[in-house]
Amino acid sequence: MSRTNDGIVIVGASASGLSAADGLREGGYTGPLTVLDEEVEPGYDRPMLSKSLLAARDHATPAPLRTDEQLAAKGIDLLAGHGATGLDVDRRLVVTNWGEAIGWQHVIVATGVTARPVVTTGGAALPTLRTRADLTAARQFATTGRPVTLIGGGFIGLEVAAALRSRGVEVTVLCATELPLAGFLGDEVAGWLHDLHLANGVLFDLGTATTSVAETAQGYDIHLADGRVRQATSVLAGVGTEPATDWLIGSGVELDHGVVTDAAGRTNVEGVWAAGDIVGRWDPLHGRHRRFEHWTHAIEQGRRVGLNIARGEATAHDAVPYVWTEQYGLTLHMLGERRPGDTDIVVEGDISTGDFVVAHGACDELHGATICGRVRALRTYRKLLRARASLNDALGTASSA
Ligand SMILES: Cc1cc2nc3c(=O)[nH]c(=O)nc-3n(C[C@H](O)[C@H](O)[C@H](O)COP(=O)(O)OP(=O)(O)OC[C@H]3O[C@@H](n4cnc5c(N)ncnc54)[C@H](O)[C@@H]3O)c2cc1C
Repeated sequence: MSRTNDGIVIVGASASGLSAADGLREGGYTGPLTVLDEEVEPGYDRPMLSKSLLAARDHATPAPLRTDEQLAAKGIDLLAGHGATGLDVDRRLVVTNWGEAIGWQHVIVATGVTARPVVTTGGAALPTLRTRADLTAARQFATTGRPVTLIGGGFIGLEVAAALRSRGVEVTVLCATELPLAGFLGDEVAGWLHDLHLANGVLFDLGTATTSVAETAQGYDIHLADGRVRQATSVLAGVGTEPATDWLIGSGVELDHGVVTDAAGRTNVEGVWAAGDIVGRWDPLHGRHRRFEHWTHAIEQGRRVGLNIARGEATAHDAVPYVWTEQYGLTLHMLGERRPGDTDIVVEGDISTGDFVVAHGACDELHGATICGRVRALRTYRKLLRARASLNDALGTASSA
């Protein structure tokens, strides 16, 4: 493998890494472009893993993000099954699990996150759902028909619950908070979503954290913070993520809840950039670096980093945050970010009908909106949030809609 430092190397061939490659070519970069990924078949539609693909009766595979022809047309050299094991910022080399040392002029870190492991007292890691390989394991739940206990009531836990219920599997969700996703959605929307799961037969154990999981002859004993022990035959954990930064430890690149970058995607080391889920950006509101782990963000930010490098710019990525989730055939769209203590105002429709727009904010500042069934409102609220509109503006928009 070339040791010359005249090319650009992207580590991670998923949403952000492949979009960065596109941004580089779009911005006019014509030099060598190598994308490495440790997965043997990287670059697929990850959000579908917990939705249609888990619910499907056939064993459909996730859609690839790029075909070989598309990669070839853009002169992108994809090295699948090549994990980065180290970064030498002085000699400008990425070291791989094959012992290669690949030179770079710029390197883009796009290694995303891994599912936070939950390890039993016997040392076994519980199944999670992050990769194509995880999907194969999770599908076993749907085929064995045994009841499944999900540890964690976040987006992944709830989507998996909905998908498994559609296959007739008995599902129990264990969640440390009183209402799943209440922090993201506000109590009213979260309550409606909880009711939707109840109506579809999901069982919940809310308000108690899981403290440990022990393997038993029948399955597992799940120990809860309130002292109870629940028995489970099959368990899947969805309790958050960890940034895939192991290979960067000791490299000199600043790490804190991910790879620390500025708004343009630059790290503290010249020529080293980062994009997507792995990025930890300073959040003055929370007083710490925070990752924003959503598909559209990864794509947009990846492209921006590619453009910045190609054009020699440092343009900030400042799109309005957006995330969606699909459960029971309904799609919830979240724009901006609801903050703790925000007021939630139904500005259109009616939550109980699954057709609504709820604005989130405080002190007449609009912080976010949750939209279900009214896709046209996405454009309006994206504009309002971008313009830093007030809650009153949001209400005014609704009354004139
Ligand atoms: C099941 C599931 C459902 C989701 N649903 C939604 C949704 O509905 N809406 C939404 O907005 N977001 C959703 N997300 C989040 C979304 O998938 C992520 O935000 C997005 O994938 C981030 O893209 P990324 O390129 O930054 O990182 P990733 O997609 O995590 O890709 C990182 C890549 O880097 C590779 N890699 C890691 N370490 C190394 C290494 N050392 N060397 C080489 N390669 C390495 C990995 O193999 C991987 O291919 C979902 C995520 C999951 C897991």
